[in-house]
Amino acid sequence: MAALSNGHGSSFFKMPPIKFTKLFINGEFVDSLSGREFETRDPRTGEVITRIAEGAKEDVDVAVKAARAAFDYGPWPRMPGAERAKIMMKWADLVDQNIEEIAALDAIDAGKLYHWCKAVDIPAAASTIRYYAGAADKIHGEVLKASREFHAYTLLEPIGVVGHIIPWNFPSTMFVAKVSPSLAAGCTMVLKPAEQTPLSALFYAHLAKLAGIPDGVLNVVPGFGQTAGVAISLHMDIDKVSFTGSTEVGREVMRAAANSNLKPVSLELGGKSPVIVFDDADVDKAAELALLGILFNKGEICVAGSRVLVQEGIYDEFEKKLVEKAKAWVVGDPFDPKVQQGPQVDKKQFEKILSYIEQGKKEGATLLTGGKRVGNKGYYIEPTIFSNVKEDMLIVQDEIFGPVMALMKFKTIEDAIKIANNTRYGLASGIVTKSLDTANTVSRSIRAGIVWINCYFAFGNDIPYGGYKMSGFGRDFGMEALHKYLQVKSVVTPIYNSPW
Ligand code: NAD
Repeated sequence: MAALSNGHGSSFFKMPPIKFTKLFINGEFVDSLSGREFETRDPRTGEVITRIAEGAKEDVDVAVKAARAAFDYGPWPRMPGAERAKIMMKWADLVDQNIEEIAALDAIDAGKLYHWCKAVDIPAAASTIRYYAGAADKIHGEVLKASREFHAYTLLEPIGVVGHIIPWNFPSTMFVAKVSPSLAAGCTMVLKPAEQTPLSALFYAHLAKLAGIPDGVLNVVPGFGQTAGVAISLHMDIDKVSFTGSTEVGREVMRAAANSNLKPVSLELGGKSPVIVFDDADVDKAAELALLGILFNKGEICVAGSRVLVQEGIYDEFEKKLVEKAKAWVVGDPFDPKVQQGPQVDKKQFEKILSYIEQGKKEGATLLTGGKRVGNKGYYIEPTIFSNVKEDMLIVQDEIFGPVMALMKFKTIEDAIKIANNTRYGLASGIVTKSLDTANTVSRSIRAGIVWINCYFAFGNDIPYGGYKMSGFGRDFGMEALHKYLQVKSVVTPIYNSPW
């Protein structure tokens, strides 16, 4: 494993200027009403990057008032879709012009690989904004097949004021996945970024203002879940909540929506996704794919392939290659271009992952490789693989959200399907095979929102993404996401013999 090079002394370190640390409400950066602030930390060292204004209920109230006024009286929902599209396109251009700075913000805030963010996450964020900008002038209802006496049609209207609550693992992707379709729909909104990663969200808000998104349309209120997050999900004047995060908190959000104004919610939650490798696979490539499936973004990705099921004919060879590759995987400073895995997002996440590793050992699983922290500073963890796991072990059932794989052997296709579906989650899945029959049979039998055949993490703006079972409901991306933010109104009028 490459020497760990973390910390501010690293030659790869680039500290982006921190320009925005306040709440963004009604087009202005403002202090929180309480004057309180919280710290955001660099996971390479645990040191404080900066202090951020801490939004709470009263700040959410002010932000919702601004969003309500912008929705009820402002230009955004009323302007032609093509005008909204023009402004969104300008916003996307500004994102493109600031790729390096935003990438560095996500890298220091979340421990994400700087070069990956620069090459993929941030350009993809701009492309997501453009994708939905392109949809803004194509939102229309249908003429209905009504009776001879009636003409009827549907109108698609923006749902209103939206509350977005997002996690820390993909600060940029999550921000644009929520904000862009709701903007295109003509909604106004209040977004709460995760307390661990507020920096890029505030930067995007600044660029939105520069692009011409009217004041009050997009409000960003950093703060904690128990205060700002709860205030959003309980708010009587928010018309919809779109949440991405853990299953436990998703349940709270749904309960709060039910206990307040019955606002619709969409929940993108946790996962324990299977990658199923069949005997006919190219073993080397399959091992590479499975390893990436668990180690990409340090395992902090809801669709991580955390359960790897391998057919018995190739199991031994697969295990050997997998362990070799895991040992060669480079952990270190996320600004170093050679590094493949940076630090976990924070101390809490780091400790949770290490405690699951201890749990796995206690439960009797075999630790094939990894299992320890890397270095003595920051939140780095070795790529970790357990074999000889049983389906009811906690490391097989719980989402660990870290670089920890459970490796299993299976005999038949039926066994594979049964094991794959033996989870309370249903977010993603992977199949590696050369057989079309096997791929088709398994993809129709897995209860998950996405099936990747001979690939993994293949995302696209037009590919809807979301869960079955306790991984939630509703879809991000694709036209499905746009429709989350639209209401359907039916309009009916008599054609002749009008009583009026
Ligand atoms: P989390 O649920 O703890 O927090 C997510 C967001 O909810 C944060 O902004 C947090 O402040 C807020 N929050 C916390 N408590 C709240 C409450 N009671 N009411 C309202 N908001 C509250 O999740 P996390 O630890 O930040 O993120 C990791 C989780 O997110 C994992 O379980 C992962 O699988 C999931 N995730 C899912 C997807 C997906 O698309 N399905 C994508 C990324 C992450």
